[in-house]
Amino acid sequence: HFSKSADLDEAKRALGELPNVIESQGPGEEDIKEGIEGCIGNTPLIRIKSLSDATGCEILAKAEFINGAGNSPKDRVALSIIETAEEQGLLEPHSGDTIYEGTVGSTGISLAAICRARGYKAHICMPDDMAVEKSDLLLKLGAEVERVRPAPIVDQNQFVNLARSRAKEHTDDPDKPGRGLFADQFETEANWRAHFTSTGPEIYRQTGGRLDAFVSGAGTGGTISGVSLFLKQLLPEVQIVLADPPGSGLYNRVKYGVMFDPKEKEGTRRRHQVDTVVEGIGINRITHNFDVGRELINDAIRVTDDQAMSMARWLVENDGIFVGSSSAVNCVAAAQLAKQLGPGHRIVTLLCDSGARHLSKFWAKTEPVGGGKERLSLDQILPDADKRPS
Ligand code: PMP
Repeated sequence: HFSKSADLDEAKRALGELPNVIESQGPGEEDIKEGIEGCIGNTPLIRIKSLSDATGCEILAKAEFINGAGNSPKDRVALSIIETAEEQGLLEPHSGDTIYEGTVGSTGISLAAICRARGYKAHICMPDDMAVEKSDLLLKLGAEVERVRPAPIVDQNQFVNLARSRAKEHTDDPDKPGRGLFADQFETEANWRAHFTSTGPEIYRQTGGRLDAFVSGAGTGGTISGVSLFLKQLLPEVQIVLADPPGSGLYNRVKYGVMFDPKEKEGTRRRHQVDTVVEGIGINRITHNFDVGRELINDAIRVTDDQAMSMARWLVENDGIFVGSSSAVNCVAAAQLAKQLGPGHRIVTLLCDSGARHLSKFWAKTEPVGGGKERLSLDQILPDADKRPS
């Protein structure tokens, strides 16, 4: 029964004035998604107005934090890894089958969420210097979490090696139900193929095939390889540019063909020794997922922690966009590339995850927006845009 309140009369009158939503837009039931898996992919491409205005280029960023399972591009990869394993008969729901992965966080979060949806368990090995938000989130998703000291890849306790051996221990243990499956994001074909079949085609469709460059960091290399392998076939002229943090060997590899610059100081070469606040990108080995698209990369841009933190602040200050560290690195490199290319170009990059996942580390070191601080100018973030750091 309707009450006779003035508010309700007002609402009834307003309803009469509304255009008929169903008639004008048609039924929308096809918009209902099949579980969280249905919320993966088809992310929006955002024109970053501040960076576009400041550079005279059009800077577009794929909002990968909108992926609806684990809120990062790793949702695409985790789904691809799980579906490939299911097709190969390697996973049986509710049998105790457990997915093991070495991850700095995002892939683990995506795997843990999809495992829950599909009746598997997740066991995640991660370095203990990653933001605590990620391991907290993994625990809330019911994953088993092992945090280990950062170590070089030759160390058996390095997080990826540990995940691989934990998977084997599980399979070999007759007392454990189900099998252990090592997801192996660094080496598996399912990783770059996820970006080849979804991220790349989406970028092509959303830009109408009109773009001059694609900018991305590399953690496994799956994103940059998969997107490049797709785009370069249709657009051979598109520039592929790697955004790389200090301590990663990929920058030197792309620029000079060697992972380590002999002039760089000992102890600053290795990613795990550099103590950067940027998480998820930068490596010191050529993974399969990087290697498969390596020859398509045209250039690399080194991005410092300070630049990434300033960019993160800029994006909040000017656009209300609150992102994590790898997204900020991507945007610094995109802006720097815009300066190098000159006005009138169109550059696509990725916003990988939300700043909420980085509050205790990256954002704890980043100066908060407001508080009477002066607005940053792009020249403060890119002081040496023309003299590139080596
Ligand atoms: N951003 C974040 C937040 C990540 O966790 C990762 C992957 N570890 C990347 C970017 C890099 O993506 P890719 O592994 O496809 O190179």
